[in-house]
Amino acid sequence: MSSLGIIGGGQLGMFLCQAAKDLGINTSVLSETEEFSAKSFCDKFFVGKFSDSKILKDFINSADNFTIETENIPFTILEKIASKKKIFPDPGIVKICQNRLREKKFLNSLNNIKTAKFFEINNQEELKKNLKLINNSGILKTSEFGYDGKGQYKILNGQISELESLNLKSFILEEILDFEKEISVIVCRKNKKIETYPAVENIHKNSILRETIFPANISDEVRKNANKIATQIANHINLNGILAIEMFLMKDKSILINELAPRPHNSGHWSIDYCEISQFHNLLNTIFFESPKSPNPISPCKMVNVIGDEFLKKDVFEKKFKFYDYLKKEIKSARKMGHYTFKI
Ligand code: ADP
Ligand code: MG
Repeated sequence: MSSLGIIGGGQLGMFLCQAAKDLGINTSVLSETEEFSAKSFCDKFFVGKFSDSKILKDFINSADNFTIETENIPFTILEKIASKKKIFPDPGIVKICQNRLREKKFLNSLNNIKTAKFFEINNQEELKKNLKLINNSGILKTSEFGYDGKGQYKILNGQISELESLNLKSFILEEILDFEKEISVIVCRKNKKIETYPAVENIHKNSILRETIFPANISDEVRKNANKIATQIANHINLNGILAIEMFLMKDKSILINELAPRPHNSGHWSIDYCEISQFHNLLNTIFFESPKSPNPISPCKMVNVIGDEFLKKDVFEKKFKFYDYLKKEIKSARKMGHYTFKI
């Protein structure tokens, strides 16, 4: 029987286990926490630090193919798995995506691909000096381990007094973009065959994805350009697996890339209900079969994240929409607790 090891057991791992079950694929999950969303959907699980070599060894022995549900995994661990089994996407791709500085340098090295202006920051002096070059306003982000806006500080009019006690080793400072909207494209690729999920529109609140709308309300020209850029990136890195590309659509209709995620993405959850082939199913297609399949969207729709104590209204969501519970043990503010989708 085909088997898949998934590093990380959050909601992305949970949906992946469910899709794997549909395809008759056995799953094992490596989780750093005792309680995790995928726990009751995987066939086997291992709980321990990713760096625990005994647990890692057992996990590696438990499956033939591996993938990730978060890019925040030490590269040495990905390499260790890659030396023994197949892992998707290639660790080299994950390495680019797990460090904002590396990622932005890589993106800007590609033909006709651009990001926001950015500066490497390692101390207070560098922050002060570079802020002056971008009108004294910017977003300071940790280069690694950030998600859902965590590890980010917005600086307006040179106001950095609250940041003075921070050790700024390994940060990045970005100009604040006055974008028109945020969109994203998800690409699945295997053996040079590529399938893209059409661009969706993403609305964020406090730097956390709030809702995704399919299709994005953009011109055909922008839609094609978004698709072209996503395809270019996936081809350039010779992707085998899945890659989500977050983009800013600027007011002049140009596209700047925000960031890359080498795994299924929150903005692709609509595909579970409103595509013939979901992003999770297609990731499995790239791992276990010859090529990804056409997503074939079924209907315009919206996906809304349920964040923090909005979860207390779970019963209402369940009645009205297609609601997904991430089975988190605790409600925490700014934590994604579930999502729902509906036709529009
Ligand atoms: P995360 O890894 O937390 O998703 P992002 O870099 O995607 O980090 O930032 C989260 C959100 O913050 C973005 O989706 C966007 O809404 C906002 N944001 C991030 N960078 C910028 C920027 N340079 N200019 C304007 N808004 C930004
Ligand atoms: Mg993001």
